[in-house]
Amino acid sequence: MTKIGLEIHCQLTKLESKLFCPCKANYREFEPNTNICPICIGLPGSLPRLNQKAVEKATMIAMALNCNTPEKIAFFRKNYFYPDLPKNFQITQLNVYGDTSVGGAGTLMVGEKKIRITRIQLEEDPGRLIYEGSSEKNLVTLVDYNRAGTPLVEIVTEPDFENPKEVREFLNILSDLLENLGVSDPSLEGAMRADANVSIEGGNKVEIKNIGSFHDLEKAVHFEITRQHSLHSRDIPIIQETRHWDDKRKITVSSRSKEEDLDYRYFLEGDIPWIKISEQIKEKLKTEMPESISSKKQRYITKYGIPTQVAEVLSSDKFYSDLFENAHTKENAKEIANIITTDLMGLVDTREKRNDSKLKPSHLKEIADSIQSGKIARNSAKNALYEIVKTGNNLSDIISKLDLGNISNESELSKIIELIISEEPQAVEQAKSNPQTINYLVGKVMQKTKGKADPKMTLDLLKKKI
Ligand SMILES: [Zn+2]
Repeated sequence: MTKIGLEIHCQLTKLESKLFCPCKANYREFEPNTNICPICIGLPGSLPRLNQKAVEKATMIAMALNCNTPEKIAFFRKNYFYPDLPKNFQITQLNVYGDTSVGGAGTLMVGEKKIRITRIQLEEDPGRLIYEGSSEKNLVTLVDYNRAGTPLVEIVTEPDFENPKEVREFLNILSDLLENLGVSDPSLEGAMRADANVSIEGGNKVEIKNIGSFHDLEKAVHFEITRQHSLHSRDIPIIQETRHWDDKRKITVSSRSKEEDLDYRYFLEGDIPWIKISEQIKEKLKTEMPESISSKKQRYITKYGIPTQVAEVLSSDKFYSDLFENAHTKENAKEIANIITTDLMGLVDTREKRNDSKLKPSHLKEIADSIQSGKIARNSAKNALYEIVKTGNNLSDIISKLDLGNISNESELSKIIELIISEEPQAVEQAKSNPQTINYLVGKVMQKTKGKADPKMTLDLLKKKI
């Protein structure tokens, strides 16, 4: 049996400052080595000061993943030398004096399958190494410490996954959950990274390190399973090792480092006291947690009668569910859900497009209400939505500018209907004897008006004139 376990690193990107100093948690907008201070570059004599919000957000993640949360948490030094680690140790968590990391023994459901969460810990991100040129001919390596000290939550799972597809599904669900909690924006470059442990029956455990995208992680796990099966079938032993994902060649390669032999000489971080997280604080955090995705989904189904699949798509994406929450009324909820999941998703399917979109919840409400009152046809609404996302203009301005409004002027519509009646004598005769076939004529009117004829008025007028 194949066994796969994950270690996911997630940056708390919604925080203002780093884990132990006032530098910005959002390091991405800075010139290299300008978002730094004596604490995060580890100058002698500097002392860390723990970011309370980071502890709170990490505890929220632990609670959202059904973890046990201890009464007291502690921090440890993990000692190792690497150029991206300015202090030569990373401040992290470890469960040696009982459970002292922010969470443990949690679960997350992937469909019907329960994935066990071993533990959740809060730690600091190292800096970033930037290699000039290809990895083989690398001549210059640059270090940027802007990221050093960014709050990072590590989520470790039990080896409960059996195939790459389960891994991918889990990561999608987890990433939606973290975004919904308002603790992280997983679509930011480097905000979520993962390591995977892969072993097949009769073989040793192989670790694949530091993969930046879910897509690559799924591929790396798939490659690794195939590689191990191939070795096994030829009676070649699978050695326990750390491998890296080679993004260009799409294979895993042995890292041949001494990483596994490292003794991190963990010891308690004496500059940070043990932190007590009382039941009252946990209760308070619970009340501050946003509604979970599954509860949202259930509410959309039962309260508004939105179809299950639509409710699932809508609730799992915070961008869409926020739009929905701020736009809908009891009357137009289904219509708005429909506009978002059938028309809007294709228009804002990337992070950049979402950032550039000028669409406001009020626009969506206006569109839905106009469809329901017959002011605009669904087809035209789609064109109007495209314009709004681009320009942010009012719906009524767009309707008049692009001539998208429904034809609901009786005399104007009558003229078109009379034209159709004269063009389709056979169909008219048929409709007289068999009223069901009148829909064919309605279709002709719609064709002529490019879908802009008010459908109800068209039908009424046709019946009258035949
Ligand atoms: Zn700093």
